[in-house]
Amino acid sequence: MWGGYQPSLPKVHNDEKKKSMCSVMEVCHLRTGRWEQKPTTGNPPLGVRGYAAAAIGREIFYFGGYCNHPGCYHNSLYSFNVDTFNWKELSPTTSHHGPMMKNYCDMIAIKVNGEDYLVIIGGSGPSSNNTPKQPGAQYSFDILNQQCNDIHFYKLSTGQWISPTVTGDRPPPIDEFTLTSINNSSAILFGGDTANRDSNNVYILNFTDTSVNCSKLSNPGGSLSSLAGKQQAATAQEIHSVFFLCGFSF
Ligand SMILES: [Zn+2]
Repeated sequence: MWGGYQPSLPKVHNDEKKKSMCSVMEVCHLRTGRWEQKPTTGNPPLGVRGYAAAAIGREIFYFGGYCNHPGCYHNSLYSFNVDTFNWKELSPTTSHHGPMMKNYCDMIAIKVNGEDYLVIIGGSGPSSNNTPKQPGAQYSFDILNQQCNDIHFYKLSTGQWISPTVTGDRPPPIDEFTLTSINNSSAILFGGDTANRDSNNVYILNFTDTSVNCSKLSNPGGSLSSLAGKQQAATAQEIHSVFFLCGFSF
């Protein structure tokens, strides 16, 4: 477990104290339940709050996040190796290309035709001085931040950002939702915040190497009708079931 808000975290872009506080990983040994704090090497991401993470093999990937000082968001992609405990920057924060600088998006790993990709969906970030808008995506504005429904792939073998073709029932601009893999090329998106309204919609997303098809479940077995809109809920996937754990709603 890494990062997150803590009261003593410096409200700065980068300094020695922030780097030192962000250069530890909290490790839970599942067999004993014991927590251990282990030092990391290399430079940790600056987007320490509201980032997205996904694992492939022995690497955990971290995208984006809020920098803990006003107006500063990231679209950097880092990998963290669980054997060496070393951070590596794969794609730096930039306003020129890739997903916008944002927090509260989500990320999963997919594997199509033997290639690994990371998929980054939605989130919210500054409405000015950000990356060019993705064609076909929507953005909802408020005074400082915008929510988006853009979808980007990152192809691990080449380091390329890819804008897939999106078909079907595309979710609206959304943040603070959950995204959970079903298998190598599909995922389930639940809940979140859309234009200041909490959502309890469920979407199934199917991926190829160049496209995403979205289908919205109209009435998922009737059972989800009892769920209020949830932000920051959790979903966990088992072989034939998806579990929904309560978040909060306003
Ligand atoms: Zn910053």
